[in-house]
Amino acid sequence: MLIERGAGDDTSAVDNLRRADPGSDSVMRAVIFDLDGTLTVPYLDFDAIRSEIGLPPGPILEALERLTPEERAQAQAVLDRHERDAAENSTLRDGACELIGELPRRGYRVGILTRNIRRWTLHVLAKHGLAVDAIRCRDDGVAKPNPDSVLHLCSELGADPEQSWMVGDHRFDMLAGVGAGTRTVFLLGDRRSDPGTNDADHVIRCLTELLHLLEA
Ligand SMILES: [Mg+2]
Repeated sequence: MLIERGAGDDTSAVDNLRRADPGSDSVMRAVIFDLDGTLTVPYLDFDAIRSEIGLPPGPILEALERLTPEERAQAQAVLDRHERDAAENSTLRDGACELIGELPRRGYRVGILTRNIRRWTLHVLAKHGLAVDAIRCRDDGVAKPNPDSVLHLCSELGADPEQSWMVGDHRFDMLAGVGAGTRTVFLLGDRRSDPGTNDADHVIRCLTELLHLLEA
């Protein structure tokens, strides 16, 4: 897969994206990660974003669709400021870098599926030196929880969804994975509970547990 050079000013990040080898069809499985709150430490304050825009509780992107064009433009500016702040101040969860580096050695391609935009996704990858095989962001088309987002990414990665894993910290990650037919892993972290665990095949507290699941 070719990551096009049109991703804002984060051209250095392009160098951190491995290209899946189109001539190699031996790798048929992938691990697809959510980005914010999964590979990175949770930072975005969704309640603050909703409050600043004036949105009711619920998913933000879907709520923006219901605004007038003028309202949506103002809301997008608020959202972009928060997402920029989150990207620039992002820190990785423990073990994220090592995990992303180890997965190819175990025969997995690595994808990122995020409701964030491509610009900040590339910024985070570049900031932390993470190299992945493909990314899919909300500006690439249909977003999670629509399972088509997972299927598109599996197709780009040359991976069989049934041999692949979706890892995330939100229910939408699990719903997208379930709908696409992947195995699902919910990263609970230090939260007591989350509705997303109901749709997960596995629940983990930290990223380092994932390798044990893949081996099982
Ligand atoms: Mg997340």
